[in-house]
Amino acid sequence: VAERPAEFDLIERIRRRAGMRDDVVLGIGDDAALLQVPAGRQLVVAMDTLNSGVHFPVGTAAADIGWKALAVNLSDLAAMGAEPAWCALSLSLPDAGTGWVDGFLDGFSGLAGMHRVALVGGDTTRGPLSVCVTVHGFVEAGRALRRDGARVGDDVWVSGSLGDAAAALSIVTGGSAPRASGKAPVAPGDAASAVAQLRRRLDRPVPRIALGRALAGLANAAIDVSDGLLADLAHIARASGVAACIEVDALPASTALRALFDDGPRRRFQAAGGDDYELCFTAAPGRREAVEAAACATATPATRIGRITEGEGVVVLDRAGAVWRPPRSGWQHFD
Ligand code: ADP
Ligand code: MG
Repeated sequence: VAERPAEFDLIERIRRRAGMRDDVVLGIGDDAALLQVPAGRQLVVAMDTLNSGVHFPVGTAAADIGWKALAVNLSDLAAMGAEPAWCALSLSLPDAGTGWVDGFLDGFSGLAGMHRVALVGGDTTRGPLSVCVTVHGFVEAGRALRRDGARVGDDVWVSGSLGDAAAALSIVTGGSAPRASGKAPVAPGDAASAVAQLRRRLDRPVPRIALGRALAGLANAAIDVSDGLLADLAHIARASGVAACIEVDALPASTALRALFDDGPRRRFQAAGGDDYELCFTAAPGRREAVEAAACATATPATRIGRITEGEGVVVLDRAGAVWRPPRSGWQHFD
């Protein structure tokens, strides 16, 4: 009972920055929210939790945590081809510090505003730092991008570039020094700015909402890359009852990643790192021009990285056509 006033103060601060939409009949303040789903569209719902020390390094700025908590959820909507509309936020906080919450809202509400997402409810409790977000969006009935739609002969595509966030995490945790075997040394200033670019990918992932929308009804299957490309593409293969064959050297890499890491670690971060929040999707070869037009229209690069074949699992080939195996296939909890 003693902590109620502080809790109400926090909820009031959150409510002031919740955002508005016409389809929110009743938002924060009652026992539950009342929302109007547009006729003819399906409601798409996703939820993801961020725990301190597991999903972001301890000491990550509050604004970055706020951004990422919403971004990883919007990424799931993007992977369904959905248009985001609403979200709910469950906050577990070690103390009722308003400064931390204000910083958190800078990141959270900043991203919400970019996608016209209204915060319509949630829960605020005391406990170890943990953020759970639920997002709601819409998709035209029957047009959602599912994991089980890949067909033999499809191209496999990925948006943006892979491996930056995993590389940043490996630098933060000290597990890997950039250019350990450096063949082309990078000037110290350039290295620092490249490291900052990688860190930004870890802290501020950009959900590929516009591309996902453009791919609805065009791609056959899609997933967002959160656990590592190989692990996530394996989900598409399993759900679709097919296999995938990709080329490790076709995987897109940022200039920063190429500058800082040699081929070995770079390929491992790209294929098996995780936290990329890019879209991996499959589409019929006859749709190549349409996919490229969608990528162009949404200013999101898309790269063809392989094919869907008969069988099961994901095979990765190197430049010479030999099978390439990553040290591990992706991030898994409870390892
Ligand atoms: P109840 O006891 O009915 O669950 P709460 O005191 O938990 O009520 O919440 C009051 C209102 O504030 C509700 O509308 C709830 O959705 C909203 N709310 C609580 N915490 C948050 C939060 N972290 N973000 C957004 N809305 C919140
Ligand atoms: Mg409650």
